[in-house]
Amino acid sequence: AKALGRSGYCFFEASMAEDAQNQLKLLQDLRLALSREELALYYQPKVETASRAVIGVEALVRWNHPERGLLTPDLFIPLAEKTGLIFQIGSWVLNEACRQMSLWRAAGHTGWTISVNLSAMQFNHPALIQMVRETLEAHALSPYCLMLEITETTAMHNADNSLAILQQLSDMGVRISIDDFGTGYSSLLYLKRLPASELKIDRGFVQDLATNSDDAAIIASIVALGRTLNLKVVAEGVETPEQQDYLAQLGCNSLQGYLLGRPLPGEEFLASVSPSLSA
Ligand code: C2E
Ligand code: CA
Ligand code: CA
Ligand code: CA
Repeated sequence: AKALGRSGYCFFEASMAEDAQNQLKLLQDLRLALSREELALYYQPKVETASRAVIGVEALVRWNHPERGLLTPDLFIPLAEKTGLIFQIGSWVLNEACRQMSLWRAAGHTGWTISVNLSAMQFNHPALIQMVRETLEAHALSPYCLMLEITETTAMHNADNSLAILQQLSDMGVRISIDDFGTGYSSLLYLKRLPASELKIDRGFVQDLATNSDDAAIIASIVALGRTLNLKVVAEGVETPEQQDYLAQLGCNSLQGYLLGRPLPGEEFLASVSPSLSA
């Protein structure tokens, strides 16, 4: 048993070293990813519950890694945050999303908003407001077209400071969505003061909706809260027709999820929502 433990320990150590080396290699690659144009945005529709019309699009970043293929953000955004690379990546994302949106607007999709995710570090960066303003101007895009998504946890952290940043964005005309809503600890008093226009119900509540009556009750109370505070309520992670019907019954304004549309590259996205244009 001792011998086994010992070899197990060596193996563990070796794999830890390997792991650290992999992370280091990934970081070196990530530093080059922008200049090598390996980052890409995928777009997922947000659909109005009643009409099923697309009313917005969420931009989700991907990394086309030369050896490892298409990587989702959970594999590199945490690393980018740890090393500060998130600022460069984040401004690339905002710029690319605005560039794409202005093309879609020119093609006639003037009713859509483009949603962009902000990490906590980006949200708290002193140059955020200026970066957003300059990017909108560079693409001659109205601030009303842009929706910034921050998680409830980010919004709640250092609440007074967050409110001040959100107020500036909102005064500019940019819309705010509170992402992963229900997983943080917002007080009602705070929510009342929040200059947001949307609450996005976390996928965790949608997942077991049909079988877990607690989740349904929580969603119903978020919808009621949204009505009271004049915030639109969107549900994410909708995968089945049952979930869709349930969320419609509960009064969610809009829906997002694989059932309504998977994240796709820009051209494919446009073809998927207006098939006649792709013929
Ligand atoms: P999020 O903002 O909560 O985004 C929703 C995630 O759920 C996306 O994963 C999306 O692809 C996935 N999803 C959408 N519909 C469904 C569904 O029906 N079922 C399931 N199982 N999943 C669904 P993704 O693209 O891997 O992004 C993960 C997270 O990475 C995002 O969570 C967001 O927090 C972060 N992220 C994505 N893009 C960016 C970005 O450009 N900047 C920053 N800072 N973070 C980003
Ligand atoms: Ca989001
Ligand atoms: Ca979310
Ligand atoms: Ca999330």
